[in-house]
Amino acid sequence: IPVDPFDLVVFGGTGDLAQRKILPALFRRHCAGQLPGGERIIGAARTAMSSADYRTVVAESIREHAGPKACGGGALESFLERVSYVALDALGEAGWQQLCRALEGAGDERVRMFYFSVGPGLFGPLAERLHRYGLATAQTRIVVEKPFGRDLASARELNRTLASHFDEGQIYRIDHYLGKETVQNLMAVRFGNMLFEPLWNSQYVDHIQITVAETVGVEGREEYYERAGAMRDMMQNHLMQLLCLIAMEPPAKFDPDAVRDEKLKVIRALDPVEPHHIVRGQYQARLDPEAPHPSYRGLVNNPRSTTESYVALKAHISNWRWAGTPFYLRTGKRLVNRSSVINVMFKDAPHSIFGAEAGRHANHLKIRLQPNEGITLSVTIKEPGQGGMRLIDVPLDMSFAEALGPEGGDPPDAYERLIMDVVRGNQTLFMRGDEVEAAWAWTDPLIAGWKSRGDVPKPYESGSTGPGDADLLMRRDGREWRGIN
Ligand code: NAD
Repeated sequence: IPVDPFDLVVFGGTGDLAQRKILPALFRRHCAGQLPGGERIIGAARTAMSSADYRTVVAESIREHAGPKACGGGALESFLERVSYVALDALGEAGWQQLCRALEGAGDERVRMFYFSVGPGLFGPLAERLHRYGLATAQTRIVVEKPFGRDLASARELNRTLASHFDEGQIYRIDHYLGKETVQNLMAVRFGNMLFEPLWNSQYVDHIQITVAETVGVEGREEYYERAGAMRDMMQNHLMQLLCLIAMEPPAKFDPDAVRDEKLKVIRALDPVEPHHIVRGQYQARLDPEAPHPSYRGLVNNPRSTTESYVALKAHISNWRWAGTPFYLRTGKRLVNRSSVINVMFKDAPHSIFGAEAGRHANHLKIRLQPNEGITLSVTIKEPGQGGMRLIDVPLDMSFAEALGPEGGDPPDAYERLIMDVVRGNQTLFMRGDEVEAAWAWTDPLIAGWKSRGDVPKPYESGSTGPGDADLLMRRDGREWRGIN
């Protein structure tokens, strides 16, 4: 279904994120017939260039990133007709009048989006100028990227700055993990079926694991990452958001504030994490002559860096539903596989009628966010053809590629879905200001704790599954990580 006509200004339109994600996402929606026609997409950044040159840059990015199927049949040309460029300075006055002219003539009813695809230091100056130049209409929405602050104080300051120019209902704090098909399916599975919700509590769930493993290192982001680390870069936002969706109470309806109220309650119910329940790691060089890789310290050119490129922790949620069920969260760079997965590990059946030889079996719901988005429930059955009662675990698999069928095509990627949600004015999958602050309020003491203790991250081999201490964290509890796969 086409969305209403809109104008979109991408501040940072020449940057990596705009070229790799935002513009290809818009193009794919154009190919899917969701853009109504007549919308204007304006790249705005510091570099001086003409709209014609910008269109050439955008065309290259789309060819590289939008997928091979997408560019045929004149689709790229018709998309580019909507694209233009304004060179401007977010910190000065240059270019702003041109932007005003580029946006003229649409009327106040038209949705107008400003995507802040720039560093957070520019959010305030941009918001202020949007007002000063009369560009913020009642239909204006701003989209802001992570990182949203580096601690509670800076997040509060950012929220205050944005709030002085925009209502909370106009601010879309993006976390692309929430735009993934599986994440929304997680809610459909939980709240659309009778099967799971009655079991979704500490009486039946032994523990929950959330893993976000990356094979990439921090190339190209050295300066930012050295000041951030895995806790700020991934745990405080992406893993925390996944934790919220897994653990929240059923909202009364699937609407933005109902969902976000429930997520906020989860964050507020998180206990402080015990120092011995956190493992930080930092990757070492890979010496393999076939695939060498520099160490984290080598890459950031700081031989004494104590920034973590890996963090694993055990969290507890103090409420009736989850008291006693640990949540194990881990994320890291330069790991063996790229994999984002949530494992809900149910308890063993209370009594085995089949005796010891049947072994121990427990149900397990695996929610794969990437690669191969899908959900698998493992169930225990009798091993076919064997004498006696030998039990095995088999998967009941729902892969979205299969569910959509050969005609269904790929599901929209996270940025596609989220940008269209902004056009529709739906904030359900965006973080509210108080959520972000609550997440920082939980994260800050953990970071302060290891600063004051002089904690040094444990080394781990590049291309491995992370530091051995993270395995110990599990083994001490008689559990083990589900493989990064
Ligand atoms: P980038 O450095 O590649 O691009 C920055 C853009 O900002 C450029 O277009 C540049 O011209 C523009 N810019 C800088 N100063 C400006 C000024 N004074 N006036 C006008 N324009 C100015 O950065 P990026 O990787 O595209 O990231 C943009 C934002 O998105 C950052 O906050 C980053 O943390 C966040 N982010 C990026 C990614 C990613 O994959 N690249 C992922 C998540 C979040």
